[in-house]
Amino acid sequence: MRKPKIVILGAGYGGLMTATRLQKAVGTNEADIVLINKNDYHYETTWLHEASAGTLHHDRVRYDISGVIDRNKVEFIQGTAVEIKKEEKKVLLENGEVEYDYLVVALGGESETFGIKGLKEYAFSIVNVNAARQIREHIELQFATYHTEEEKKDERLTIVVGGAGFTGIEFLGELGNRIPELCHEYDIDIHKVKVICVEAAPMVLPGFDPDLVEYAVAHLEKKGVEFRIGTAIKEATPEGIIVAKGEEEPEEIKAATVVWAAGIRGNAIIEKSGIEAMRGRVKVNLDLRVPEHENIFVIGDCSLMINEEINRPYPPTAQIAMQQGETCAKNIAALIHNKPLENFKPDIKGTVCSLGENDAIGVVFGKKLVGKKASFMKKVVDNRSLYMIGGAGLVLKKGKFNVL
Ligand code: FAD
Ligand code: NAD
Repeated sequence: MRKPKIVILGAGYGGLMTATRLQKAVGTNEADIVLINKNDYHYETTWLHEASAGTLHHDRVRYDISGVIDRNKVEFIQGTAVEIKKEEKKVLLENGEVEYDYLVVALGGESETFGIKGLKEYAFSIVNVNAARQIREHIELQFATYHTEEEKKDERLTIVVGGAGFTGIEFLGELGNRIPELCHEYDIDIHKVKVICVEAAPMVLPGFDPDLVEYAVAHLEKKGVEFRIGTAIKEATPEGIIVAKGEEEPEEIKAATVVWAAGIRGNAIIEKSGIEAMRGRVKVNLDLRVPEHENIFVIGDCSLMINEEINRPYPPTAQIAMQQGETCAKNIAALIHNKPLENFKPDIKGTVCSLGENDAIGVVFGKKLVGKKASFMKKVVDNRSLYMIGGAGLVLKKGKFNVL
């Protein structure tokens, strides 16, 4: 009898959890497992703000996929998926195609620009290693060239961050550490540097605990960040951005660096493949399968599940992507073993938002934390995700131990 073929698209948090759990749950005599990813490495998306600011080298945020999967049980293909042909049960890659019996879509998110003019052309987004490297180099270039111009253009030293959600705030925290280093290296008066965060909602980190938000804002303002709250980015231009606050006249902020951190959507492949979605996120059944396509599982940022308690979608997080990966592996093994599938229920342990090297805010198991304790907890969370996928060896190789 032909063995079923399980294809996993994406080796991020969701995809790698699925692969590493499936290789234990299903025997090589029972199914073939194939993992497909654009690069031969996995990157910790949750550390990309550090690589983007230049406070952590990009090689620290990535590791080889071959080091964490069992190559005798999982075939790894480095390739870029371009479309899913559901009816033909195959995935088209840039170079070739792969057939499947069961498919796991774990391709992560993309920056959501809401159709705002100029953002795709003139703003950066913290989305992968290549983008992080580019942001770091671009900022450094502005500092390096500041003294070489006949007219020192002050906007070279202006950085705008769009969005004060968790990504925007964590990136600002890293900039708070990096900018003094850059000023020292390139002989620049730190008072010349402007870091402006533009947030459309009436508060920073909308919906998060107000005391913790106050702590974060005070900390970042002390590091020189200027917040423009209740102000929306309307357009990005080669010179900077146009913003508007309520009914007031739009204003131009000249800036050589604009980083858009104001939201994400699911991978474009979902819509291209004709799978029903909301902003690229598929509303999956409780067992993580796509309605009407019961051999396709969608997990992580490409999936959407409603939190019935508040009747709103769960946020796209690594925490949920990893838990979904575990359930997805169990459910595929159950299908192969003719057992019942289980429903996915997120177990949210908390949220910790870093504010740079040794500071953070968070709520963990319902308890509020700030400062070094929160920062320590953030490193525990970061190391835990390494442990869950690559065990103690990976933690020793890539983990964060600078806890003081
Ligand atoms: P990802 O982990 O993003 O992985 C997707 C994978 O698919 C990547 O390896 C990518 O290369 C690959 N891929 C993409 N397109 C293709 C293609 N066409 N073909 C082949 N391969 C492809 N969440 C938290 O819970 N805690 C945090 O502290 C936290 N911090 C964050 C900090 C930042 C700066 C950002 C940007 C996000 C943060 N998040 C955090 C959110 C979290 O990173 C995401 O929710 C999580 O990465 C989603 O996991 P995933 O498995 O869906 O996708
Ligand atoms: P987000 O959607 O959570 O926040 C985006 C912010 O941008 C919002 O505050 C929104 O009001 C603002 N915004 C939207 N349009 C705007 C405009 N035109 N002008 C100005 N501001 C605008 O996005 P995110 O911060 O990238 O987070 C994405 C996901 O990743 C979330 O689920 C988040 O929980 C998760 N994440 C978690 C952590 C953490 O746990 N430490 C860190 C980063 C990201």
